[in-house]
Amino acid sequence: MFDVRKILETIKARNAKTVGLQFPEGLKRQGPDLAKEVEEKTGALVIISGDPCYGACDIDDALLDMVDVLFHFGHSRISDDERIVFMEYYHDVDVERAVLNALPMLGQKVGVVTTVQHIHKLDDIVKILNGAAKEPVISKGDSRITYPGQVLGCNFSAVPGGVDSILFVGTGNFHPMGMRLAHKVPVVAADPFTGEARLVDVDKIMKQRYAVMAKAMGAKKWGIIIGMKSGQQRPDLAKKLKNIAGDAVLISIKEITPDRLLNFKVDAYVSTACPRIAIDEAGRFPAPVLTPVEFEMVKGLRDWESLAFDEIKGD
Ligand code: SF4
Repeated sequence: MFDVRKILETIKARNAKTVGLQFPEGLKRQGPDLAKEVEEKTGALVIISGDPCYGACDIDDALLDMVDVLFHFGHSRISDDERIVFMEYYHDVDVERAVLNALPMLGQKVGVVTTVQHIHKLDDIVKILNGAAKEPVISKGDSRITYPGQVLGCNFSAVPGGVDSILFVGTGNFHPMGMRLAHKVPVVAADPFTGEARLVDVDKIMKQRYAVMAKAMGAKKWGIIIGMKSGQQRPDLAKKLKNIAGDAVLISIKEITPDRLLNFKVDAYVSTACPRIAIDEAGRFPAPVLTPVEFEMVKGLRDWESLAFDEIKGD
């Protein structure tokens, strides 16, 4: 499951006396057993982060300052901090059925993308596409992206241009909807867990986002949120948006929840933190929460037709 040997060797090589373990929710239950094994085999003291963790952007900085090495599980590297060891997690689920089901919906030239959990299956995906006489294209993303063909919910830089369609292998709607909006070509989402494939439809999300923007149109006072998680901080963007907004305050928040926005007397918010928050939590916030892209549309700085998901770009 986990590469325990790598963990033990790293601890030994660094002569680490205190070790941090950080897991996303789905892997947390394995933390206590791993902590016990590491303590028994190395003599190091292990501390597990109990806070929520949603991505490689979401490092437990307080714990990091307390330990000699922090093992962060489930995500690929974003930060260059040498004290953090990113332990990727790969699902060993077969992709064949889902990709075969996607074939009839794909054009000739196919951009192929997936999340880090299935990145080791890219060769299998390419073979299936080649076998069906398609032309798979895999691109390298920017510095926020570790592997060619990998996407994050906040970064679609590895989606190739100039293709007839895009094949996303993975679960959930967020990534494929973001690609569909950004690239305007058909996106087929193939879920290896169910074996199903479907053409991604963005009508519903567009309606939802235009409704949120319409509510924010009359806003006089704005709250511009700076996300305080280390891999989400965009203070320069927040300052730029504040200047555009006019009557606005900057608000720093680590965990952005509807409750935390209750007591600020503003008419609407713009979140410069994780791009998923404004979308996934829409309808639960006490006031409209826009992405920076949507804010620019509301302010007339972007074409009303150019709706796209917000992205946090690397170099
Ligand atoms: Fe994922 Fe959001 Fe972090 Fe990007 S900013 S890696 S989408 S949790």
